[in-house]
Amino acid sequence: MFQQKIRIIISIFYLLILISGCVKTKKDVQSTNASAKLDLYALTGVNIIPMTSGNEIITGATVVIRNHKIESINQPVPDSAQIIDGKGKWLIPGLIDMHVHGFADINFGESYPTQGATFFVNDQDAMLLYVVNGITTIFDLNARVENFAQRNEIAEGNVIGPRMALAALINGGEGDGRIANTPEDGRQSVRMAKAEGYDFIKVYSQLNKETFLAIAEEAVKQGMKVVGHIPNDFSDSIEKALVPNFGMVAHAEEFAKQSNNFSNKDIQLFVQLAKRSGTWLTPTLITIERITDQAESLDSIKKLKGFSYIHPLMQDKWLHSNNYNKGADNKRIAHLKDLINFNNQLVKAFQDAGIPLVAGTDAGCSGVIWGFALHDELELLVKAGLSPEEALISATRLPSQWLGIEDKIGTIEVGKFADLILLDANPLEDIKNTQKIRGAFFNGRWISREVMDEMLSDLETRNAQNIGKFEWKKRKMLDN
Ligand SMILES: [Zn+2]
Repeated sequence: MFQQKIRIIISIFYLLILISGCVKTKKDVQSTNASAKLDLYALTGVNIIPMTSGNEIITGATVVIRNHKIESINQPVPDSAQIIDGKGKWLIPGLIDMHVHGFADINFGESYPTQGATFFVNDQDAMLLYVVNGITTIFDLNARVENFAQRNEIAEGNVIGPRMALAALINGGEGDGRIANTPEDGRQSVRMAKAEGYDFIKVYSQLNKETFLAIAEEAVKQGMKVVGHIPNDFSDSIEKALVPNFGMVAHAEEFAKQSNNFSNKDIQLFVQLAKRSGTWLTPTLITIERITDQAESLDSIKKLKGFSYIHPLMQDKWLHSNNYNKGADNKRIAHLKDLINFNNQLVKAFQDAGIPLVAGTDAGCSGVIWGFALHDELELLVKAGLSPEEALISATRLPSQWLGIEDKIGTIEVGKFADLILLDANPLEDIKNTQKIRGAFFNGRWISREVMDEMLSDLETRNAQNIGKFEWKKRKMLDN
């Protein structure tokens, strides 16, 4: 049933490509076989913003894309290529969201042997939110086994979606999941995560000092990079947490937690420490903005761009089981506003000091919508003092470097994978122009605006039909 649905969606998608006005084949459609034809495109007359370190714009260029990759720039167009008119448009690398929490099949309730997930997610629906926003790579910071299946579906081409980097979360204290309270348990958790197929380790707040340091050391020994929270145990000694093995701090507020008065003196200390250890930062400015909105009122939720596209279960959770709104008083709201202010200053100070910043959203937290939120984050980075170009670097070249795939994605260069976004206007002039998406290449497959809109409207209709059928509070009783 599920496979059949995907096949239907893909057939519709091919059909739409054929009838879409902006794509014309140079040769007769009948004369080439379908799969070869779909793998060869020429984008003509386009202005390329390559996001290489020189970042020299190539105006009116021809880009040939074949077999998932950028085959040539400004070379002759192969006969059988599908032509996409890029005149007056702008081409940037696909965007990378470096902090998401994926939406995958979840087993909420009691299970019995042989039972799979009790809550099944349509992978294409979940991935569509990234697709329509030109997010071609995501970094899941609390990945589960289900995400591997999603990643395979995308790699196979059954589902259109982003590349996925997956981090295994390790926490201390008590509770579910990978819990480690001794250095030996920490090291073993890392080795098991590696064996399960994870590429990265996410460290979390309740780890004790010794265990955190052991995890970071073991991870690097295993060739895995470490990202995450600064454990609370370091509240009297942040300098001991920022070690070279700690590759990236996952939120600006992880630093804010370490400051009693949000002073500039503290910011300067954090700059010094991060610079010394070579630790990068994903600010996730949008998260606190959204948490503040929700603390003030839940009215903001329904007005969010993209809200109608998220699964009815999550719509219900955000509207009716929302923890950010519970018990929020003026004092809490004032604190959140101070925090926003601190985060902005920290971001500007890190940028000025040359500490690499990468864009991430914490998508999946209530109010932070997968895909859409990254464009909000780019706007907030510019508001905090980055230039539009620096904001774009934080969502393209730099994250590809941190993930260790800078030879494959992150810039527009011959030989790299064709993860590309075609924009109607220049994002270097106004960062909001990243939202004017005319189409995008996902691993060399062209998805036009028309296809995106068609898929969105279909999803919106189905969601509307299912509103009321999913209640977060009754999720353990779901049986679908
Ligand atoms: Zn997160």
